[in-house]
Amino acid sequence: MEHSWTDLERAVRGCTRCKLCGGRTNTVLGEGSREAAILCIGEGPGQQEDLQGRPFVGPAGRLLDKMLAAISLTREEVYIANVVKCRPPMNRSPEPDEIQNCLPFLRAQVGLIRPRILFLLGATAGRAVIGPDFRVTRDRGKWAERKGYHMLASFHPSALLRDQSGAWKRLAWEDLKSLRAKYDELKGEEA
Ligand code: SF4
Repeated sequence: MEHSWTDLERAVRGCTRCKLCGGRTNTVLGEGSREAAILCIGEGPGQQEDLQGRPFVGPAGRLLDKMLAAISLTREEVYIANVVKCRPPMNRSPEPDEIQNCLPFLRAQVGLIRPRILFLLGATAGRAVIGPDFRVTRDRGKWAERKGYHMLASFHPSALLRDQSGAWKRLAWEDLKSLRAKYDELKGEEA
């Protein structure tokens, strides 16, 4: 596995481990602080992300920026990545074989960043990181800890954009406040 950011960037850029390589314009490794305490993990690049080679830059990305701002964080203070680094066609969800092939890159990012918190955005990230039985409506908002990493799942911003009733947005706000509280608690422990 890749042991430096340079190796990881090179490996992802040239990756042909799964069929998503055939349709991509750019790979999208992630961006933000490489010393971040919070690693936000989404599903995969969409159209804008694929064109720009950056994560969360379309409408869902603008919402993520607002969500972070609501708890006084910026995208420069966290690191933002996805489960898969290449755009699935027609914005479908990544398939299990694609996720399995790409997960070593996410694990390498976790190993390099060593965040305190994994903030999982949506069902794909929850299933990939927490386990195959994960269900976002049932399991969001519950803290779990594994290998010293604190993990919290919430809705993907794309789902929140489709949420007509506002019910998911209200729950997402509870998750964000919980994220901020854990972040402050962990910072307090380090001080
Ligand atoms: Fe490689 Fe991941 Fe892209 Fe598949 S999605 S080609 S595993 S970088």
